[in-house]
Amino acid sequence: MGFSSLIRSKVLASSSNYTQGRKGYKVCKITPHHMAGILSGEQCAKLFQNPNRQASANYCIGNDGGIVGCVDENNRAWTSSSSSNDCQAITIEVSNSSTVGDWPISEVAWNSLVNLCVDICKRYGFTLKYDGTKNGSLTRHNMFAATSCPGKYLQNRFQELADTVNAKLSGSTTTSSSTSSNKKSNETIAEEVIQGKWGNGDDRKNRLIAAGYDYNAIQKIVNQKLGVASSNSTTSNKKSIDTIVNEVIAGKWGNGEDRKTRLQNAGYNYSEIQSAVNNKLSGKSTSSNKKSNETIANEVIAGKWGNGADRKNRLTAAGYDYNAIQKIVNQKLK
Ligand SMILES: [Zn+2]
Repeated sequence: MGFSSLIRSKVLASSSNYTQGRKGYKVCKITPHHMAGILSGEQCAKLFQNPNRQASANYCIGNDGGIVGCVDENNRAWTSSSSSNDCQAITIEVSNSSTVGDWPISEVAWNSLVNLCVDICKRYGFTLKYDGTKNGSLTRHNMFAATSCPGKYLQNRFQELADTVNAKLSGSTTTSSSTSSNKKSNETIAEEVIQGKWGNGDDRKNRLIAAGYDYNAIQKIVNQKLGVASSNSTTSNKKSIDTIVNEVIAGKWGNGEDRKTRLQNAGYNYSEIQSAVNNKLSGKSTSSNKKSNETIANEVIAGKWGNGADRKNRLTAAGYDYNAIQKIVNQKLK
């Protein structure tokens, strides 16, 4: 059946890490796993491209809620330590939002998990039955092996997952009417977007869609509002480059693409400011202030440096060797 239409991207697993076909079984189960780490869907899927990994999943959901397709639904992924389970199940790796405590996951990852389960159940014609045994249609990795997977947090929400998915499957009309009454106006959401409550780029898009909003319509209002604001703003309102540089370093303008968008929306020259920031930071930071790559790798795993492009930008801006640190992180997470 290929992949769900909900995927953000495809990062296909190495053919050494899954079995072609499902040995005659048809899909009638879902098995959510946790990554035991904080990763984007793409980062997790890339691990399954290593032919020696001996593991895979049909889907990976990142901490940002992005859904990535790894193993075609027609094939049995190697995820749950059980051939008969994985022949019947679509398996889904879900990123954690923290590596301490009970392995929590983010709400956006949760929403993506719910939506993906609804989509799978609809297409294969089953509902989620969670009875705490491997006979249900919602199963756990730790039913088949001595593992903490799917983590306490997610495990405690398995019944809620089944209930939420089944409610959406049975009452699509009730759900849509109840959500429409709960929904805010596009105008209100656009204001929230401008205030930064919905993130940026793909993150913003995924979150708005997951919450049932019309991304394009809202983005249009945002652009209009920002266009009006910038044409009203005169150069006299603008701060000096030096002031902005200090604000960027103090973290007031975010990172990476977010920073770029915000600076440009406010009428500043991003390249000019970024190079001034880089100059200032490189003059300031001495190697004696720097922590070891090992220490930074631990901080990365603890979630202190964000994810994906954001992590890369922040590490690079702080003078660290992103590739070297990411390598240590990947080794530690293996
Ligand atoms: Zn697992």
